[in-house]
Amino acid sequence: EDNEEVGEEYLFKIVLIGDSAVGKSNLLSRFARNEFDTNSKATIGVEFQTQVVEIEGKEVKAQIWDTAGQERFRAVTSAYYRGAVGALVVYDISRRTTFDSIKRWLEELTIHCDTTVARMLVGNKCDLENIREVSIEEGKSLAEEEGLFFMETSALDSTNVQTAFEIVIREIYNNIS
Ligand code: GDP
Ligand code: MG
Repeated sequence: EDNEEVGEEYLFKIVLIGDSAVGKSNLLSRFARNEFDTNSKATIGVEFQTQVVEIEGKEVKAQIWDTAGQERFRAVTSAYYRGAVGALVVYDISRRTTFDSIKRWLEELTIHCDTTVARMLVGNKCDLENIREVSIEEGKSLAEEEGLFFMETSALDSTNVQTAFEIVIREIYNNIS
């Protein structure tokens, strides 16, 4: 181990945004605690969770914020976005309306955050293949258009959850180092 790195600290604020019930809270609980809740109520009290990730031997703290049920358009306050350096913009692959909302969520990000914010488009619930309403190609092409990373995830069966967060965290790290 390189002891010169001891004492160096990174804290990255990352926000989760997207329509209600797309799985934001479960993506966070899967990532931070490896838990899934089938009957998840609106998150109460918990504003964010911190997860430590190691990148190039350095300890990075990812402070991930959850909307606590304020997803109604424009109800997420600027305090929520303040200081964010990364964002996961989430839709539900089984509900097209949540995909149609993505452009508005991206506008909100543009209004409230620096242009350098690392952004990942996340199509969650990819386990629901049988009732899919948004194709992978549509997700990919929107991401390309908007210059976002893209990944389909499942908080239920854990597909890509770790990877999605880690790509964003790495991108933030690369931006600053
Ligand atoms: P939020 O409102 O965006 O925070 O969404 P929640 O995390 O509360 O999830 C809303 C509902 O979708 C809950 O009933 C979850 O159990 C369910 N859910 C979340 N993620 C997934 C997933 O990846 N697959 C499936 N099948 N259901 C999910
Ligand atoms: Mg929630």
